[in-house]
Amino acid sequence: TRRLLTVEDLNVSFETRDGENQAVRGVSLHIDQGETLGIVGESGSGKSVTAKSIMGLIAPPGRMKSGRIEFAGTDLAGLEEKDWRRIRGNRIAMVFQDPMTSLNPVKTIGDHLTEVIRRHRGLGKAEARQEAVRLLREVGITEPERRLRQYPHEFSGGMRQRVMIAMALSCQPELLIADEPTTALDVTIQAQILDLLKQLKDQSNLSVVLITHDLGVVAQVCSRVAVMYGGMVMEEGTVEEIFYRPKHPYTQGLLRSVPQRKSGYRERLVPIEGSPPDLIDPPAGCPFRERCPHAMAKCAQLPPRFEIGPGHRAMCWLNDESVKEELAARPEPQ
Ligand code: SF4
Ligand code: MG
Repeated sequence: TRRLLTVEDLNVSFETRDGENQAVRGVSLHIDQGETLGIVGESGSGKSVTAKSIMGLIAPPGRMKSGRIEFAGTDLAGLEEKDWRRIRGNRIAMVFQDPMTSLNPVKTIGDHLTEVIRRHRGLGKAEARQEAVRLLREVGITEPERRLRQYPHEFSGGMRQRVMIAMALSCQPELLIADEPTTALDVTIQAQILDLLKQLKDQSNLSVVLITHDLGVVAQVCSRVAVMYGGMVMEEGTVEEIFYRPKHPYTQGLLRSVPQRKSGYRERLVPIEGSPPDLIDPPAGCPFRERCPHAMAKCAQLPPRFEIGPGHRAMCWLNDESVKEELAARPEPQ
């Protein structure tokens, strides 16, 4: 497998009236070709800002302060806007939560698609039309010829999201970034869109970054997961490791708050008490400290990323050898 994207020690902040909001703090990630990485976290955890950085979409008052973003051997952090345009929507495409805001209500679905296809691929009108038909079929839209003549309002939410995916795919990207692509959809439609993403990834060698607040969504599509909190990656690992052997109390808390869709009845959900840290003046030490049931004196220092196993890392002192020994030596509570 080929390494497609490497993000190293990314720091992004936003100037606000109250000071500098440190939205992303030291994030490191990587994506291989053909892989689907889930980035999970609550709103304000830095996941969307991380995605926007990869797309070169951080604009004032936002600023990428430091870090490296390397895509297929190109250093993106140093690119100028004109060079960005060759990559964004071309080699890296993005799908957002609300397709309606990206579709023009007075243009047909066909106009939307053929425009992107012609712009990116330099095809003639008839060929672009043919390609649009093929793409609609690929994203599971039946009767594509008729559908192309329709307007966005004639499509349901799920169908519009399929169109957005078709548009994203029209430029044959190597990386697709999907930011909460199913959040606005009901559960059945959500599952269909996730199936589609999975199918597309399996058919082509497409790499996908799926951003969501829902660990259940990750389980359906992703091979690897990064759990973000307070602008940092708290834990990273394969879906299996994150779901069955979570080593960070925040991941464990998130897992307890995921509805068990398969068990047939609704289990009691345990929300994580408290609220995320203020990133304008973030507390020193572990960002999860104020909400963590295991917080100890040592947590006033920022924990390093502990290597749990191959590709599995957790940023929590509970994984430190001396802490483990100390905890093991403690008498059982009576
Ligand atoms: Fe909890 Fe401390 Fe681990 Fe942070 S470092 S998650 S506060 S135990
Ligand atoms: Mg977001």
